Amino acid sequence: TQAHLDAMAANRHLNAFTVETPELALAQAGAADVALASGSAGSLAGIPLGIKDLFCTKGVETTAASRILEGFVPQYESTVSGKLLAAGAVMLGKLNLDEFAMGSSNETSAAGRVISPWKAIGSDAELVPGGSSGGSASAVSARLAAGATGTDTGGSIRQPAAFVGITGIKPTYGRCSRWGVVAFASSLDQAGPMARTVEDCAHMLTAMCGHDPKDTTSLDLPVPDFAALLNADLRGKKIGIPKEYRLDGLDPTIAKLWDDGLAWLRAAGAEPVEVSLPHTKYALPAYYIIAPAEASSNLARYDGVRFGQRVMPEGGSLADMYEATRAAGFGKEVKRRIMIGTYVLSAGFYDAYFTQAQKVRTLIARDFEAAFEVCDLLLTPTAPSAAFAFGAKVDPLDMYLNDVFTVPSSLAGLPAMSVPVGLSADGLPLGLQIIGRPLDEQGVLGAGL
Ligand code: GLN
Repeated sequence: TQAHLDAMAANRHLNAFTVETPELALAQAGAADVALASGSAGSLAGIPLGIKDLFCTKGVETTAASRILEGFVPQYESTVSGKLLAAGAVMLGKLNLDEFAMGSSNETSAAGRVISPWKAIGSDAELVPGGSSGGSASAVSARLAAGATGTDTGGSIRQPAAFVGITGIKPTYGRCSRWGVVAFASSLDQAGPMARTVEDCAHMLTAMCGHDPKDTTSLDLPVPDFAALLNADLRGKKIGIPKEYRLDGLDPTIAKLWDDGLAWLRAAGAEPVEVSLPHTKYALPAYYIIAPAEASSNLARYDGVRFGQRVMPEGGSLADMYEATRAAGFGKEVKRRIMIGTYVLSAGFYDAYFTQAQKVRTLIARDFEAAFEVCDLLLTPTAPSAAFAFGAKVDPLDMYLNDVFTVPSSLAGLPAMSVPVGLSADGLPLGLQIIGRPLDEQGVLGAGL
């Protein structure tokens, strides 16, 4: 813990943490020492982790990287962070993110952008760590934390993991409780671990999953000991390659690594098969209707009354306070999503946009069901490019396109993981994504080994 606290202090320029909690961390590390000595230690005793600042942490400011939540100190611990602490983990601090987890580059954070510890060969340009779990990615990659929590609504664990050369898994929707996690799009949000290796992710995932009566979408199923059951033997498994993911103009290095990945899985005994996910091209439009719709509803609670910031104009009415608080508290991307979400839910447009997107979501889920009749796992790139420079994607649509490979499995609620597999021509990390059947985290992890 002390070594990680020192590394954090020496790397503040990365802006990975929104809050550092060194005293708390040392106290928790001391308690882990005692537990280890007495033989009562949990599975993560003394492991120093960062917690994405979207998880409510009791007594520690939780901002979702938004000005509107500045100064909000929860009275309670999120189920997932509570489970990690109960397993003996140490919390080093809270990790920076895109505001309310909306973004793919960490440029929307009110706490300032997170910087990737990576640079392209021959360039001094600072690069994005991906998003929204960019602080988690940067901290783990730079060895400021042994692991971190992330959340993934449309790729926010997998894409940043790929951008910085680490491993991150989004479990099946419902595996991890959403209780105490600041909500973005409730039908999509899932917590998951980000760490250096598949093994580390497996250890964290076992601690994070489990039924929680406080989240009605939490699955009431036993949680396997993912780490103990890790198995890299893929004999007899079929690996699907979705043909619609072979995008025109896909970066040749990514295409080559994808082929390499398939060759590695074949060497482990698996058999490749081509599959079709015909509705893939509708996934991004459907996601960018459904996610903002749910966000516009979830974010209605930030009204200046109950949480964080309040802006009260002199002599103003209650409505004036709502308006001034939300105008000052939300950043540009969050406002854009609230506007889109409110629009697609409005009486005149609900059927044309929201209902239609929900139907498309069903078709996408059915595509995966059909594919999993002929294969056990899917292998795809995680992102269409390596990490890019700050300011490289000013057009929001351009930014949204970066989620093309991660969003479909989110809409279908499937477990999906990014593993680091190689480097781009200019030396930047690239990842491959493994997608599994519902609840088959074990298969996904095994293929990732
Ligand atoms: N980049 C996607 C978005 O901006 C996904 C974010 C996430 O998974 N939290 O919505």
